[in-house]
Amino acid sequence: MTSHSHEHNAQASSRSALLYERACRVIPGGVNSPVRAFRAVGGTPLFFVSGRGAHLTDADGREFLDLVGSWGPLILGHAHPAVVEAVARACRQGTTFGAPCPAEVELAERVVASYPGTEQVRLVSSGTEAVMSAIRLARAFTGRDLIVKFSGCYHGHADHLLVAAGSGLATFGRPSSAGVPEAFTACTRVLPLDDEAAAEALFARDGERIAAVIIEPLPANHGLLPQRREFLERLRGLTRERGALLIFDEVISGFRIARGGAAERLGIVPDLATFGKVIGGGMPVGAFAGPRRIMARLAPDGDTYQAGTLSGNPVAMASGIATLDVLAAENGWEKLEAAGAQLERLLQPVLREAPFPMHLVRVGSLFWLSLHESGAPRTAAALSPQAVERYAALFHAMLAEGIYLPPSAYEACFLSLAHTAADLERLARGLRSALGTLR
Ligand SMILES: *Cc1c(COP(=O)(O)O)cnc(C)c1O
Repeated sequence: MTSHSHEHNAQASSRSALLYERACRVIPGGVNSPVRAFRAVGGTPLFFVSGRGAHLTDADGREFLDLVGSWGPLILGHAHPAVVEAVARACRQGTTFGAPCPAEVELAERVVASYPGTEQVRLVSSGTEAVMSAIRLARAFTGRDLIVKFSGCYHGHADHLLVAAGSGLATFGRPSSAGVPEAFTACTRVLPLDDEAAAEALFARDGERIAAVIIEPLPANHGLLPQRREFLERLRGLTRERGALLIFDEVISGFRIARGGAAERLGIVPDLATFGKVIGGGMPVGAFAGPRRIMARLAPDGDTYQAGTLSGNPVAMASGIATLDVLAAENGWEKLEAAGAQLERLLQPVLREAPFPMHLVRVGSLFWLSLHESGAPRTAAALSPQAVERYAALFHAMLAEGIYLPPSAYEACFLSLAHTAADLERLARGLRSALGTLR
């Protein structure tokens, strides 16, 4: 038994544990998104009843410093007054019309003004939907079928993107989930990150059949795997030379690491970009955007069908607009970079004294505590079983310190504008103390 098993037992009669029992009866696995179930760290999930700024309160009244931020959307923190006010005002005027409303124009104008190379945007309700639609559009525009993705990048749960790399040199994607027919992934190819030669070889073989290359320009769903700029530039060059589209999936990085996302930071302009998370400020919003010559293929102007009952609804739009406006008005991206740098200064000495190898990988307000022995990888390397176990122990030791980390060693942490210097110091102190108990 590991040291955190006591904690699990202590939780057995907690309100969270009782809610989880009820949830498991009526919801598969007790959760509506798998990572929430704590399977990667053991124990049972906490149920939260409120959030304010950088803090969460669980069903048992315990308060936690939140480093998850709902997996990215809450860049202003929980229940930011400007967002709450905008959402409440929008609700009172009707939650959805199924017809155009002014707020969707306002959010679309902000996207177009912020993101390089973008003239038009279509608003949807999740990142998955944005990616799925962008890929359909890329296939329609190019008249080609093949999609190239990278091992370690996540693009939501659309059938043709739930693929694992095949064995050996074959890059044919095989379904990574039950329920996905081989035929649906037959047009998906999977490449390793950080490998120009592999991309060049695929383009040499299949270049004229490739509709699009999709990548998280800052891969943040398998830990945080910042890429060499030259690699992304090579992808830009290859796609341009061979008439394929380059799609940046900026669902995490968009409006987080800069106003213009990774494209702005890297100075590389994709053909299409997808958004989610921050763009909705905590409400369900996704978007995909690009130049008019491509976007015009969408219905009703063009022949590529895409639709949504609640797309562009005024409540979700109000949340996104308020979030982007606070970020712009408060110089949010500069402040988040400063908070990230401060965190780095505080954590480095703690990590140097950790009882096992532990590295901080950070880009702006995104960071990952990597337990790879060798430091920070650039590809989707698997953590050793020992590292996964260490993370589980650390996760529970941090909970005991009142700090909520993501419940998986492969997930990145998120800072918000609500994280104060005192919160960052609390995190560093908590980490030092938690690591002490694991010695
Ligand atoms: C979260 C995420 C998605 C999926 O977004 P959902 O809103 O969960 O459907 C797609 N791409 C990336 C890069 C993501 O991080």
